Amino acid sequence: MCDHESQVMTSYPHLLEPLSLGAIDLRNRAVMGSMHTGLEETGEWDRMAAFYAERAHGGVGLIVTGGIAPNREGAVFPGAAGLASAEEIAGHRRVTQAVHHHDGRIVMQILHAGRYGYGRDCVAPSAIRSPISPFTPKCLDEAGIHKQIEDFADTAVRAREVGYDGVEIMGSEGYLLNQFLVRRTNRRRDHWGGRYENRMRFPLAVLRAVRAAAGEDFLIIFRLSLIDLVPDGSNWDECLMLARAVEAAGADVINTGIGWHEARIPTIATSVPRGAFGWITRKLKAAIDLPVMASNRINTPELAEAMLRDGCADLISMARPFLADAEFVAKAAQRRSAFITPCIACNQACLDHTFERKVSSCIVNPRACHELEITYRPTTTAKSIAVVGAGPAGLSASLIAAQRGHQVTLFERSDQIGGQFNMARRIPGKEEFHELVRWYQCMLDDSGVQCRLNCQPEPADLTTFDEIVIATGVTPRLPDIDGREARHVLTYAELLGGDAEIGERVVIIGAGGIGFDVAEFLASGGINHAASIEAWRREWGVSDPAIHRGGINPAGPQPSPAARQITLVQRKPGRPGKALGKTTGWIHRSSLAMKQVQMLGGAAYDRIDQDGVHVTFTEGEPRRQLLAADSVILCTGQESERSLYDRLHDRRASVHLIGGACEAANLDAKSAVADGARIAARL
Ligand code: NAP
Ligand code: SF4
Repeated sequence: MCDHESQVMTSYPHLLEPLSLGAIDLRNRAVMGSMHTGLEETGEWDRMAAFYAERAHGGVGLIVTGGIAPNREGAVFPGAAGLASAEEIAGHRRVTQAVHHHDGRIVMQILHAGRYGYGRDCVAPSAIRSPISPFTPKCLDEAGIHKQIEDFADTAVRAREVGYDGVEIMGSEGYLLNQFLVRRTNRRRDHWGGRYENRMRFPLAVLRAVRAAAGEDFLIIFRLSLIDLVPDGSNWDECLMLARAVEAAGADVINTGIGWHEARIPTIATSVPRGAFGWITRKLKAAIDLPVMASNRINTPELAEAMLRDGCADLISMARPFLADAEFVAKAAQRRSAFITPCIACNQACLDHTFERKVSSCIVNPRACHELEITYRPTTTAKSIAVVGAGPAGLSASLIAAQRGHQVTLFERSDQIGGQFNMARRIPGKEEFHELVRWYQCMLDDSGVQCRLNCQPEPADLTTFDEIVIATGVTPRLPDIDGREARHVLTYAELLGGDAEIGERVVIIGAGGIGFDVAEFLASGGINHAASIEAWRREWGVSDPAIHRGGINPAGPQPSPAARQITLVQRKPGRPGKALGKTTGWIHRSSLAMKQVQMLGGAAYDRIDQDGVHVTFTEGEPRRQLLAADSVILCTGQESERSLYDRLHDRRASVHLIGGACEAANLDAKSAVADGARIAARL
């Protein structure tokens, strides 16, 4: 197994070792994996060039671009990026030049969405709609199949012409090539369907055509799904047969694909243990000669180094970690890995943005994809700055202001920095938040911020500062419900900030992000039962494709028993959780469902008493019900905490209110960190 946690290394001989792949020399084994950022569709090519150039400057060995469609019918959505128009050709050229200027290497991913194409033109081996798309694809005929192959080859030739060092052929995650491979999506009776040799004909034809058209000295990566995580997916013999055929057909590297997009098993979320799929890349590496690349939930140089050292892979692909920190490799090489901004795998500013058709960024690095517009220039007039509150907004403001050369004093009334991050990190499956708080502490120390813990300044204590930033955060909202003062009623902050005794039956009022987190915390008794890779696989029913087709255990998920009986309730009609993150909401809902948490919508709260919460369900015929509870937890949103600001702002012009203290509605860590960064860039 590749279970390499907790190894702290000071140098990374395997990660930093150069590698020759055909005619291309890589300066190290770190690969920035493909990720759609939305920049591709802005038409702002200088912005995209700046984004990748910073990563190349930061020392990454190889960059793989976001998926570029080979043609209109292969686009992920109508209007998605391609490489066909004169404008696109000129734009891509700017990107490759910018990366090469920093001695980087960059390949372009060619992605044909097949039935995942979000439009009426989508095509597939068979006319079978995906469960995550409203569009039924058109079944490709013989001529249509040949057209797709030619379009791949033409796109690869154009990629070469605009300066890419190679291409990655996207053959996994349930996209077109993958759809040809499995019976679930390929019901053809011609020589493109039926037995496996026929089903792999299309991906191999694409690969051969690309090799023939683009030349022997062009790097070709084939991304191959090693574990589909969908019913009727490939088995291990088929994966191996394909890998060997891909090797023979002229690929230089096989990259690991994990899970189809329609899989109902998480593959990259923060609750997936780090390095969770290294074991399967290692199986492949042992069976073929071609270099292989590992991917998914690898976010530290320590883990990458250990996986390379232990023979899991030859290259390590990390996509989101390079959004979080462009200098990931440079810092590792300088033995400063403690300073690498950690990707906490939250998806909130990257993948969730992609699904909302917004440009990606990063919750912990708001500059990501905004390199030209957000700059933190060294100040010419150093000021003394007081920041009050060491939560997400205050930490972000303090750090950037200090890095710009200001003298920053950070006041925090509790005995630790972190604010709401400290609640998040208590939630099982959100342990990456520990890493984030550790990183902030490390960075504050390094940048000379003076931290004054256990300190609640009065206005008089702040008179000597040039600028005052109020980041005092939020307090839980107390809803107007009869009985809320009872002893068995707690706010989420009282629960997660202490060690209150909680009964066997709990009702959680309010089903936003925090309500879901609290339900997870209480259902699991505060313990992450799926912290190890083995336990996590058991919990979600992840088998080995050598044993079960697609890597799905037919016995299904085997979650640990719930610690107590929980009801999660909201006023909005419908099932709770609809407003959670696009890419992670389903995971939270599934996880609670596996723990038999009852999730109810459409409730009006009548009162709380010793028996529990009395509600009236308002959908349809009104219906009164007692939700029996020994403990009741209020997760009913927040109010701004701005008492200090109210006492300050009339007196001085240079007082700034940021984060939840400024705006509690729609507050989350992403906006708080960005708010802090924005003010600090201006001071
Ligand atoms: P939230 O998402 O706004 O949810 C607040 C909940 O309280 C809602 O269910 C709301 O729904 C209910 N509520 C509001 N006012 C109420 C009142 N007066 N009486 C009774 N119920 C009331 O806020 P949050 O859960 O506190 O989260 C704060 C922010 O952090 C959000 O932006 C959230 O997205 C983010 N966050 C996200 C995650 C995650 O994605 N996993 C985790 C933690 C936090 P009804 O009005 O329908 O009852
Ligand atoms: Fe990682 Fe979250 Fe940043 Fe995405 S937004 S790169 S998941 S820390």
